[in-house]
Amino acid sequence: MIKSFYSALILILLVSLSSCHQAKKGDSEFESFKLRMVDDMWKQYPNWATGVGYHKYDSILPIPDEAGRKSDLAFSKRYLDSLNEFIYDSLSPMNKTDYLLIKNMLEGTDYSINEYKSYTWDASQYNFGGTLFEITQNKDDSNAIIGNLDKFLAKTPAYFEAAKKNLTEPTLEHTTLAIQQLTGTSEMLQYGEIREFYTKKNADTASLGVATKAIQGFVAHLENLKSEMESGKRKPKSFRLGKKLYEKKFNIDITSSFSADEMYQIASQRKESLQTDMFAIATRLWDKYLPNTPMEADSLKRIKMVIDKVALQHVKREDFQKEIERQIPMLNQFILEKDLVTMDASKPLVVRKEPAWMAGVAGASISSPGPYAKNANTYYNVGSLAFYAPEAAESFLREYNQFTLQILNIHEAIPGHYVQLIHANKSPSIIQNLLQNGSFVEGWALYAERMMMEEGWDKNTTINKTEMSDEMWLMYYKFHLRGVCNTILDYSIHCQNMSEEQAMHLMQVEAFQEKSEAEGKWRRAKLTQVQLCSYFTGFNEIYTFREEVKKQMGDKFNLKAFNDKLLSFGAPPMKYVKEMFGKF
Ligand code: ZN
Ligand code: ZN
Repeated sequence: MIKSFYSALILILLVSLSSCHQAKKGDSEFESFKLRMVDDMWKQYPNWATGVGYHKYDSILPIPDEAGRKSDLAFSKRYLDSLNEFIYDSLSPMNKTDYLLIKNMLEGTDYSINEYKSYTWDASQYNFGGTLFEITQNKDDSNAIIGNLDKFLAKTPAYFEAAKKNLTEPTLEHTTLAIQQLTGTSEMLQYGEIREFYTKKNADTASLGVATKAIQGFVAHLENLKSEMESGKRKPKSFRLGKKLYEKKFNIDITSSFSADEMYQIASQRKESLQTDMFAIATRLWDKYLPNTPMEADSLKRIKMVIDKVALQHVKREDFQKEIERQIPMLNQFILEKDLVTMDASKPLVVRKEPAWMAGVAGASISSPGPYAKNANTYYNVGSLAFYAPEAAESFLREYNQFTLQILNIHEAIPGHYVQLIHANKSPSIIQNLLQNGSFVEGWALYAERMMMEEGWDKNTTINKTEMSDEMWLMYYKFHLRGVCNTILDYSIHCQNMSEEQAMHLMQVEAFQEKSEAEGKWRRAKLTQVQLCSYFTGFNEIYTFREEVKKQMGDKFNLKAFNDKLLSFGAPPMKYVKEMFGKF
């Protein structure tokens, strides 16, 4: 009591002392600063606001020209200056984290505009199809939707004029992607979702015509760039980011305690140790799956041969979604029985067929409500296999066999992304909710896989009621190895000139992936940088931290309490979570 009275007194003294020097503010000012900045941020980045369910500025399409970039830089500078008025050490742990998250974001603007410069080489960033869809989801003011769309679309000719000027050194890969995606967006306007929306409301469709023409003009420009690059008339920019820019992006996007190079080393060691564990399991399972074949001597080949046999246990293509629906309640039950993390029965997970506008990449993803739409449904989107050729469907189903499909459901849903996002939505800090760290999010999902296996999910596998713990671990390791290799692959491609052949060898021979899986990953690694590192980097930090806490607390350690607390901060970088963890 007395102690806190004195520290309050000292704080008052400090505040009043510093206020006579006209600077240095504390917690209470920080709260209003945050609110002011967020509202200003939405004006500055209206399409981001739309994406998180804040619809006040839906009608604005910022023009990506020099003036726009100057305005973004001025915004960052203004708020970095405001941040400097606060004494970091005097802030509460939560505000400290917010402070660092805001600083990181604002500093990222300068990197993005002056060094990374993707506006000059990545044509796909000019696709706004997703934003158009989100504008139609405005539940707060549905009467405003058509007017917002009209104003937004009226800006598209100026928007694409600026985009054309920006693209001074396009890459072939992003140009190809942009042509595909923008063609899809133009179809939304001509006869797809957006056109239907106008028709339903009996609205004038003039703006749809204007925007379609603008998109088509831009696509024609891209087609032209593409054929110039393919014929050798124009030298495309390399899709490889290069070590210097990559390391900086890694620090900004991931905010890890490790550098990109260190994570590459850690991932490489991890790969070796996983292969050793998988070799032991494959040896045990050999006679069960290959009784009449002499044991293969080469260790990677031995693992691969057993995996190929185990993977034949998969559902029929028409049962894929049904199987996911069957497993969700089982996972839920397991969490409750083992008391692993707090669940929220009032926010059920809705399994649905992937909506058409989601690009149609078969697989699975989670769509969760943002901070402004907390009561909306969380969806588990399941890709349809209906249009797959028989061999492609078979390959997909072997990759997502009976065992891997369970790991996928753990990762995407319970207790992976779905559970994490529900906890994040309860975080009192809007900043932490908005600036979620991708590495924490993916790291949690990988950690969830590991935790479920450690807690005995492997014994829970229900194929023919026989225990298949070895199979389950083998496939878990394969899935985990994929995350580990994502880091190795991304770093090697962007910093070490890894060739396509070397990449395919890493994925298919060393990580036992199906060809279709590996080809898709190669494509994705060329189009993105750093994001593929988020999985293993986040996992590594969460898992290592939990083991430390466990050791420190000994008998008092409680897994559920740990998990709930870990998720209670929203999803900032683990570096900051560690700082806050002991102080709440
Ligand atoms: Zn089959
Ligand atoms: Zn994920």
